[in-house]
Amino acid sequence: MIYQRVKGTHDILPAESAKWQYLEKFIRDYLHRNNYQEIRTPAFEVTELFTRSIGTDTDVVAKEMYTFFDKGQTSLTLKPELTAPVMRAFLQNNMEQVAPLTKVYYIDALFRQERPQKGRLRQFHQFGYEIIGSAYPETDAEVIQTIYELYRELGISDLQVRINSIGSRSARQRYLELLKQALQPHAAAFCSTCRERLTRNVLRLFDCKVASCQALLDARAPFLIDHLDQQDREHFAEVCRLLETVQVPYLLDKKLVRGLDYYSRTTFEITSGLLGSQDALCGGGRYDYLIADLGGKPTPGIGVASGMERVLLVLEQLKAFPESPSNLLYLIALGEMPRQAGFQLLTALRKQGLCVEMDFLRRSLKAQLRDASRAQARWVIIMGEDELARGQVILKRMSDGQQTPLNLPQAADEIARLVQ
Ligand code: AMP
Repeated sequence: MIYQRVKGTHDILPAESAKWQYLEKFIRDYLHRNNYQEIRTPAFEVTELFTRSIGTDTDVVAKEMYTFFDKGQTSLTLKPELTAPVMRAFLQNNMEQVAPLTKVYYIDALFRQERPQKGRLRQFHQFGYEIIGSAYPETDAEVIQTIYELYRELGISDLQVRINSIGSRSARQRYLELLKQALQPHAAAFCSTCRERLTRNVLRLFDCKVASCQALLDARAPFLIDHLDQQDREHFAEVCRLLETVQVPYLLDKKLVRGLDYYSRTTFEITSGLLGSQDALCGGGRYDYLIADLGGKPTPGIGVASGMERVLLVLEQLKAFPESPSNLLYLIALGEMPRQAGFQLLTALRKQGLCVEMDFLRRSLKAQLRDASRAQARWVIIMGEDELARGQVILKRMSDGQQTPLNLPQAADEIARLVQ
């Protein structure tokens, strides 16, 4: 029996990993240009970090976390999202003392026990970034504009930005009472999970995927955006104005509350028409209370997280991966002495910074030439007994078959010069 990978996980094989590397490099270059610096946090954290920040009534915490006990019987959880770990690292390392505004990004693997389907995995990857320290609407606009432009620069144009405001905590508290009153009379018509949510955490009703529950919300629920206080409204209006000045088109989505408890004020998602039912490329929002909730001094923050697999699915459909021409040199050495001399030349060429491969299967000339073509080598270096006896190697250009004999002592330097 051959072991199988766990449901909802993927192997990224060599043919695929080039695409991942392209995307990762693009993200890094782009975010460095926007003055974000990378942060890396451990694969697991104490469970309480997530229950405290994401909230116990959310799908992520209630149903999806990979939680286990270590030998010291501490409850640990593989990270299901990255904002809470980044805030933990921010606090633990006193990062607010380094600069008044912290801009960090990450590219990482996450774990959620969800029902696997296209674009929904149990181990998946996200890139994202956070701006910690400013409550001003410019920050919200920057976070949204930056991810929108990143997708555009990648070549994705079919994008829809949806935004909403879920207000500050005081406004939300008043609204939640209203929401409860409006929905309680219809409790029996909601699914059992929603009935539970109605008493425990009424905002989470908006996360329900059951169509009849959503229809009831459309018909009966007041919306948070219509119950904001003056400052929340001004903040949101300014975010919208700023997005307009930089030509980021957006739609107001009054039901967009996002499935995690720590959000406040601005929430947003960007979807792509090129994805199927799982159409969200990214989601994010402001979390002005999170750092204080985790024990720090009140510090506002805002961030976004984007699914890497989903971006790759879109790029695949758009055929938006640039061709990377091969620069491979294929060294063919035939016979024992040539093999030794070939191994020396291989090492010398690699020291010159060239991409060189030598056949270690001791195959025939014909088989090695075939392999060089398969590997799309641009050049082949041939070293047989006869060439070695003459103190030479042959450099062959694969595009037109042109052959150049080179003297062995100078071969590495000559080849480095000729293949430029
Ligand atoms: P969230 O952390 O749930 O706000 O998700 C942010 C983004 O991560 C989503 O818009 C998706 O692109 C991606 N994502 C979330 N969950 C999964 C998953 N289970 N599999 C693949 N991508 C996901």
